[in-house]
Amino acid sequence: MSATEYEVVPAVDADVVAPHVGTLVLKFGGTSVGDPDKLRRVAARLVAAREEGQRVVGVLSAMGRTTDELLDLALQVSPTPHPRELDMLVSVGERISCALAAMAIHDLGHEAISLTGSQAGIVTDTVHGKAKIVEVRARRIHEALDEGTIVLVAGFQGVSTSFEVTTLGRGGSDTTAVALAAALGADHCEIYTDVRGVYSADPRVVPNARQLTRVSFDEMLEMASSGAGVLATRSIEVARSHNVKLHVRSSFEERDGTWIQEEDDTVSFENAGLEKALISGVVHQREETVYRVDGAKPARLFGALAEASVNVDTIVQTSSEIVFSAPVEDKADAARTLDELGVSWSSRDDLGKVSLVGAGMKSHPGVAAKTFATLEAAGIEAAIVSTSPIKIACHVPSSDVDKAVQALHEAFDLG
Ligand code: ADP
Ligand code: ASP
Ligand code: MG
Repeated sequence: MSATEYEVVPAVDADVVAPHVGTLVLKFGGTSVGDPDKLRRVAARLVAAREEGQRVVGVLSAMGRTTDELLDLALQVSPTPHPRELDMLVSVGERISCALAAMAIHDLGHEAISLTGSQAGIVTDTVHGKAKIVEVRARRIHEALDEGTIVLVAGFQGVSTSFEVTTLGRGGSDTTAVALAAALGADHCEIYTDVRGVYSADPRVVPNARQLTRVSFDEMLEMASSGAGVLATRSIEVARSHNVKLHVRSSFEERDGTWIQEEDDTVSFENAGLEKALISGVVHQREETVYRVDGAKPARLFGALAEASVNVDTIVQTSSEIVFSAPVEDKADAARTLDELGVSWSSRDDLGKVSLVGAGMKSHPGVAAKTFATLEAAGIEAAIVSTSPIKIACHVPSSDVDKAVQALHEAFDLG
């Protein structure tokens, strides 16, 4: 058994005197701001919200694949880029989007101002590349909003407590948007993306995946931390602890998307009726590094890994052997930590993870049995299995991940 532990969340209300009614935070992802036309469309949407009388904050991602290109550029110059300089570099993408959107809004006859994360008062800890927001000092945003200006905040970045530019990790613009929604007392946060909402599986892997109408914070947290890339895990942690409802929807259509909110017995959740849906989704991660460590004291081992900001996921301990998994991007930090501890260890990169998530699982036996039977019938062997009250996660060979997702989606009739 393993339980997923989530991080503490930031204080976000340092400067807020009283929540402002009618504040709307709209976040647009990379594909939604992918070219000049799309940026102009985003500008028009922000202006429309302003014309409805809202105080409007737009949080933008970098255009298209800009962040990947910047990371790639860094690696072409240096194989191990200095973390501070890497943050200086990759934080630029979001600023470009915001400045361009502000220009487009001016052309529509409205006031707009673009702000870097630092100018917007997003204060983080000092961990470059995956900084956590510790506080939002929203005074400057409030002042601009009070004047009727549309505020554009560069997502994915902040300023550390030692005054350095930091970034929040991949997908971090979601976290920026939700933290701002909490700090500004917004009623909810709109997440505009390239799909219509949260689906029962990644629609790129399961074409007949079903769009979910409502998902609870707990389920979404499990889905995101198990690989559903549609929202950054940290953004849901912040949403849950500050009770900010999220609306994930398409940038390219008007229709309603998926609402993520507190589980509420008066509201019927997916397939609800009297019972909650057994399974909400099958999510996957194509790669996760799995480590095997011998003869280490767990407290010392996991203390050191936490110190190095390694995001440990599944942990299995048997007598003197400890097996754990962590994201591929944490590999350098994990390797350095294990070497420094002087323990004997090995790692493998050929496994991915498929997870079934559903609040209804809590009270229904038989989900594990059906999961094993389905994988067996598909000829897939799980190397590690771990569970939480609302999740069953199986590490399987990376090459079998898509097949496993499709088989489980079908077996649990989620389409
Ligand atoms: P953005 O650039 O807007 O932040 P992302 O690429 O980060 O967009 O997230 C949207 C993508 O998430 C979709 O294109 C989809 O392929 C992927 N995705 C993975 N799992 C899911 C899921 N369960 N539901 C919806 N989308 C998912
Ligand atoms: N541009 C960053 C990324 O690609 C942050 C984001 O889009 O949320 O990860
Ligand atoms: Mg994203």
